[in-house]
Amino acid sequence: MPARSAAYGRRPVTTGSRASSSSSRFSSSSIPSIIEDSATGAKYIRGSFLGKGGFAQCYKLTDSMTKRVYAGKIVAKSSLSKHRAKEKLKSEIQIHRSLTHKYIVGFHSYFEDEHNVYILLEICSNQSMMELHKRRRGMSEIEARWFLLQIVEATAHMHARRVIHRDLKLGNLFLNEEMQVKVGDFGLATALTHDGERKRTLCGTPNYIAPEILEGKDSGHSFEVDIWSIGCILYTMIVGRPPFETRDIKTTYSKIKRNDYSFPSTLQISPEAVDLIRMLLHRDPKCRPNCEEIMRHPFLAGSAYIPQRMPIKALHMTPDFA
Ligand code: ADP
Repeated sequence: MPARSAAYGRRPVTTGSRASSSSSRFSSSSIPSIIEDSATGAKYIRGSFLGKGGFAQCYKLTDSMTKRVYAGKIVAKSSLSKHRAKEKLKSEIQIHRSLTHKYIVGFHSYFEDEHNVYILLEICSNQSMMELHKRRRGMSEIEARWFLLQIVEATAHMHARRVIHRDLKLGNLFLNEEMQVKVGDFGLATALTHDGERKRTLCGTPNYIAPEILEGKDSGHSFEVDIWSIGCILYTMIVGRPPFETRDIKTTYSKIKRNDYSFPSTLQISPEAVDLIRMLLHRDPKCRPNCEEIMRHPFLAGSAYIPQRMPIKALHMTPDFA
């Protein structure tokens, strides 16, 4: 987990992506080809490389007995020398294993050996929505509805359990073989201990960072930061680029603080989509809808068409829903 910590009022987060760290702190030679969970005796065969994040490398792991396949998130203990990094990984595990939902990456188990911590997760074979976005850019509103509803259902489940994800972004929305969304990576998540609690610190840099975090408001932040991120996700799905994107992060942050975004006049966007995005990207967190209100919005409810399934073809082009 990233070591950067900011009491964000004093020092707004300034870095880019967590994936920027090199793999030098990690060599695949320290990851055995057969990985054993000494507590259960289960043996996992390491298969293909799935990807790497800021601190983890991910491999396909097959249980040698059951033949079940998992995504094994592997964190080198050498990257956990700082107390804070250890605590963050513990927190990620605690929060993720407490959540079981159709649209959240399933948490199977975790264990460690001399060199690494292993986290076994439900495998998502169609990468993340980031890769989909890179290939497709904008998508149809029908597709956006399919994805949005699942993201909101997953977020409603987290919020009902007092969990704030705090880094909802396309790269953390994985896709299974049925093109269903699986929210993953709870590395920046937090669990509130009581209703009404507000968080005042955040260790890391969320991609779709909410204005109240950037401004370091004394009132802190809460569930509404996830709603802001969902607004950024919906805008990106429909428009094909993020709402506040610029060439440099400082300008982006200043646009976020000024709520300076617009819809391209060249694109036909339904009034329902525009209305929902405006509500989600409300500068005042208190004015943003909660998950239940999003599900009741005309973009998702009433006569809005939501497909029963999403063809795999959608990974590359707009599918027909006839
Ligand atoms: P980090 O917490 O270090 O950022 P991530 O959770 O982003 O690590 O995982 C790193 C990469 O591993 C992802 O970008 C993705 O390519 C792959 N990955 C993570 N989880 C899964 C999964 N459940 N199924 C398939 N691939 C995954």
